[in-house]
Parts: sequence; C-alpha cells; structure tokens
Amino acid sequence: MTDKFRALRVSKTDQGPKSEFVTLTEADLMDGDVTVAVEYSTVNYKDGLALTGRAPIIRSWPLIPGIDFSGKVEKSDHKEFKPGDRVVLNGFGVGEGHNGGYAQKARVKGDWLVKLPDAISNEQAMAIGTAGYTAMLCVLALEKNGVTPDKGDVLVTGAAGGVGSVAIALLSKLGHRVIASTGRAAEADYLKGLGAAEIIDRNELSAPGKPLGKERWAGAVDAVGSHTLANVLAMTKYGGTVAACGLAQGLDLPASVAPFILRGITLCGIDSVMAPKSVRIEAYKRLAADLDMKKLAAMSVRAKLDDVPHLANDIVAGKVRGRVIVDVNA
Ligand code: NDP
Repeated sequence: MTDKFRALRVSKTDQGPKSEFVTLTEADLMDGDVTVAVEYSTVNYKDGLALTGRAPIIRSWPLIPGIDFSGKVEKSDHKEFKPGDRVVLNGFGVGEGHNGGYAQKARVKGDWLVKLPDAISNEQAMAIGTAGYTAMLCVLALEKNGVTPDKGDVLVTGAAGGVGSVAIALLSKLGHRVIASTGRAAEADYLKGLGAAEIIDRNELSAPGKPLGKERWAGAVDAVGSHTLANVLAMTKYGGTVAACGLAQGLDLPASVAPFILRGITLCGIDSVMAPKSVRIEAYKRLAADLDMKKLAAMSVRAKLDDVPHLANDIVAGKVRGRVIVDVNA
C-alpha cells in the first residue's frame, strides 16, 4: 500500500498565500495518534479567509488548509478509535496550525475526532461541515435559554450562507417560525424551501441603528456581527436570546447595553473550534435527529479538490449558496 497522497498546500509569499497541488507522503504529516483516510472536506468562510489571506488564519507554513474533514480511521494509537471507524473533525486549529482536510490523508489527535452517528454518512458530515455543526450549536444555545416556538419568531442572518441555511432547516423542523435575513433576494424560493416563513432584506439590519427598536423576534442566530448584530439585539423581544457565531459583516459590535438592562435579553457567544467533546457529541446526535437530510441535499453542491482555490474566493465574496462538499478523491 502506497503512503503517497494528494494535497492542496499553501505557502507564504510576499504576495500572500500561494496554493499548489502536491503529492506528499505520511512523513509530511504532523504529529498525532490517529491517521485518517480523508474522504470529504468542505469550504467554510474561515477556509476562504485562510486561502485568500484576507485574515491571518494560517499560523504554520507551509500548511494543508481545510478546517474540517470526514473519513475512515486507517491507523490508531488512541484508545477510542480503531481502523475503519467513521469520523469527523471540526476545528481544534486544524487547517490553521495543523495540517487539515484538503488532502487524502490526515494525522491528528484522536481527542479531536468524533465518531459519526449511523444516520450521518461521511458525505453528509461534510455537507453539514463546520458551518452546519456551528448552526446546531447556536440552536442548542437558544434551546438552553428557553427559546421555544411559542415565544415568537426566530431570525437567522446570513441566511443563504452555510450557517444560515442549516440553521433555517433545523429551526423550522423544530417548529419555529423562521425569518431569514439575506442580501440575495433571488434566493427567496431557496430559503422558503429550507423552511423560512418570511424573508427580510439584510439592508434593514446592516446600518447603524438605535439602542432599542420594535420587539420583533424571540431568538436569533447571527452569522454576521457588526451593525447587524447590534440591530438584532435591539429588536429582540423581552427575555429573548441571540446566538452570535459570525463576522461576515465585521468583527465589531457597535451596540448599547439597553437591550440587556431594559429587556433582559441574553447574548450567547458560540465557538465551534475549541468546543469540548461532550458538546460536539451532543451536536452530532441532534443533527442526526433534527436535520432534514433532504433539505441538506438541497442546500449542498459537490466539488473536487481542484475547485477549492476558486471556491475560497467565492465564499469571501458572499457568492457561495448553502454548503459545498469537497470530494478529495475525485
Ligand atoms: P458563508 O459565506 O456561507 O455565509 C455568510 C453569509 O453572510 C453570506 O452568505 C451572506 O448571506 C452574509 N453576508 C456576507 N457578507 C455580508 C455583509 N457584508 N453584510 C451582511 N451579511 C453578509 O459563511 P459560513 O456560513 O461558513 O460562516 C458564516 C459566519 O460564521 C462567518 O463569519 C464564519 O467565520 C462564522 N463561523 C463561526 C464559527 C464559530 O465557531 N464561531 C464556525 C463557523 C462559521 P446572504 O447572502 O444571505 O446575505
């Protein structure tokens, strides 16, 4: 059995990150106690930032990017894993400081891996990807804070993106009335197909706003940050909860304390990268139970490793709809 494999590797140059397709051997992989035959990866917003150099995501050069992958365990010195186990990896600095998913092989710490439930195939795991797993973490946060369908509508911002699309599918299946905020009016039918009951133009939320506005939603999943998040908070109903996971508009949060001290709302920060294993296992269990796999298929397109560099440009330009599954062996 050959230990050669194909990978997309990024090197540092004065002009920014340079991507090239290379053939490597296992000796090129980093330390870890589990070797995985990678089957699928995906393109998340963070991968786009890494490959284009739009943000300093990559901390070790040269590096195989790709913050997530699914595959089968090939070799393991970790007590929880044996050859043949189907696994998924999201985050933990993979694709940032440790070689990632844009390769046919990966060597990682077993502590970073999660065994996939039977109901989620390896391909579906990357249709979900870090974006979808993060959407699940946001929904869990709303649930833990008592946002039930009877409390009122739930808003999803960045609706036609990866986090947004999965969040809409999950929330509608759980019985919530979902309002989708998007800059892509042409995607209204797509968003309604995923379960959105109402579409609003993201321009309604993206400009500087007032400390408090009309109470419009009991909960929100925000993938956008900046003025959008400030306005989302200002329009959250008394006692409501907002799960904030993204920065597509910006890293800033030009908000006031008014919604917190006058309406008792909660702002939950969502981090997928270092989330503990118990939280990940809960998220995948719930994705297996509560994500409509037909909707997941409807929001996903397939791509090859060769497509990743141009998809990285597209995702930071806000041009990718839903989710992209990258078949690293195609
Ligand atoms: P996508 O690019 O797929 O989705 C982002 C969406 O945000 C776009 O589709 C677009 O939706 C909207 N958007 C883009 N630019 C702007 C803008 N300038 N103003 C307002 N809205 C904008 O990315 P992902 O879904 O993969 O990720 C979404 C965000 O969540 C990213 O910021 C990402 O870094 C973050 N993230 C965070 C994680 C965590 O652990 N906290 C994990 C995963 C993702 P539309 O066209 O509908 O308007």
